[in-house]
Amino acid sequence: MSENLYDEVIQAPEPQPVDEELATKLGHLAEDAILRGKPYQDEKCGNCLYYLDTDKDVSYCWHPQLRILVGDEWWCQWWEEIPAS
Ligand code: SF4
Repeated sequence: MSENLYDEVIQAPEPQPVDEELATKLGHLAEDAILRGKPYQDEKCGNCLYYLDTDKDVSYCWHPQLRILVGDEWWCQWWEEIPAS
C-alpha cells in the first residue's frame, strides 16, 4: 500500500474552516429566531406562512431574517398563521 493511499484510509473527515464559519453564522441566526427543533403548542414550521412547501417534511423558510431549510416540526418566534383566503 502506498503512503498516500494509507493516509487516505486512516484520515477521518474533519470540518473545514468554512464549516466553522457557517456553523457560527447559522448558530447566530438560530439564536436570533429562537429556532427550535420541535413545535410550540400548535405552531410549527409546517403550518407557518413562511414554510414554502407544506407537502415536504423539510422545506425552505422564506422569512427575510432566515432564508434557510427547516423541518416541518420546527418552530421559531416569527411563526405566522397562514391566512384563510
Ligand atoms: S418563520 Fe419560523 S416558524 Fe415559520 S417556517 Fe420559518 S422558521 Fe419555521
